Amino acid sequence: MSDPAKPTGGETMALVEKIIRPEIRELSAYHVPSSDGFLKLDAMENPYRLPGALAQQLAQRLAAVALNRYPTPSYTGLKREICARLGVPAGFDILLGNGSDELISMVSVACARPGAKVLAPVPGFVMYAMSARLAGLDFIGVPLQPDFSLNLPAMLAAVREHRPAITWLAYPNNPTANLFAERDLLDILEAVGNEGLVVIDEAYQPFAQASFMGRLAEFPNMAVMRTVSKLGLAGIRLGYMSASSALLAEFDKVRPPYNINVLTEAVAGFVLEHVDVLDQQAAALRAERSKLAAALAQLPGVTVLPSAANFLLLRVADADQVFARLLARKVLIKNVGKMHALLANCLRVTVSTPDENQLFLDALRASLAP
Ligand SMILES: *Cc1c(COP(=O)(O)O)cnc(C)c1O
Repeated sequence: MSDPAKPTGGETMALVEKIIRPEIRELSAYHVPSSDGFLKLDAMENPYRLPGALAQQLAQRLAAVALNRYPTPSYTGLKREICARLGVPAGFDILLGNGSDELISMVSVACARPGAKVLAPVPGFVMYAMSARLAGLDFIGVPLQPDFSLNLPAMLAAVREHRPAITWLAYPNNPTANLFAERDLLDILEAVGNEGLVVIDEAYQPFAQASFMGRLAEFPNMAVMRTVSKLGLAGIRLGYMSASSALLAEFDKVRPPYNINVLTEAVAGFVLEHVDVLDQQAAALRAERSKLAAALAQLPGVTVLPSAANFLLLRVADADQVFARLLARKVLIKNVGKMHALLANCLRVTVSTPDENQLFLDALRASLAP
């Protein structure tokens, strides 16, 4: 017997169709596969944890956090620490997000005037298009060149034609791993001029050692966004973005007031006091990246694309088959082969510890066999 107060399945579907926006109904939910028992190399996580002594100190710090209180929504102390220790230029403030995903969403919502457009090269980070869609903005994707460099003439033509409110440029790009040419980015910044915002997404900056952060004063239409996720703190969900104070003030109005919780605030504050530890981990991963890329390039039928990030993009003869065989060996990487025509037969793998990289190499070698 069904409870008469509860809508039946059919009634619920009618309700869904009545109240949910059609473009939301068409979406499929962001799917993260279960990774229990797998060698997890699909999400660009830093494999290293905090050293034991630091973890102990952090535990004490966290025990003192007032969990009964709301955060102080200005986050002045944490913002000051991030600015001082992570290279934000003097005179510039930042906006904090619950991961840079939330910053992408906030920028999209703030700029969603009727008819406004969003531009980004494709293949690129999927959240730019997703957030545009959720905010009701038109997304224009401009294909990269086959070598994954920017198609500058096509980008400039799209800027002229569409006058995008937001242009997203991931530097380096995900999932292609490469850094776009600095000259191309400067040309795009100039072409957009004061008609739109250009966001340089530096999620992988610790592995690229190239940045536009120091050039904020030159480009009033530029924002630089970063995250601590790829650096080793993916679990705490913290992103930050710098730009002129006039822009930040508007984006801040979209921010949910307590978007950074007190535990995230405390962990970030503590780890920033020991940021040299994360810097050393990033340096180790950059060295491992070179070794892993060289070893992969030796495998027959594997092409390794240049990487300035903590992951490698590979091309193989049959990505679906290799991916399935790796899964059977309990190795989880990302099959990006179907994401875009330019990525046909491409696989994306996180650079990890020497041991895990070796396990991956062995599993891949076995999975490539005919
Ligand atoms: C991982 C990633 C992000 C999102 O990072 P979070 O801070 O974890 O939300 C943003 N941009 C790019 C290009 C990424 O690869």
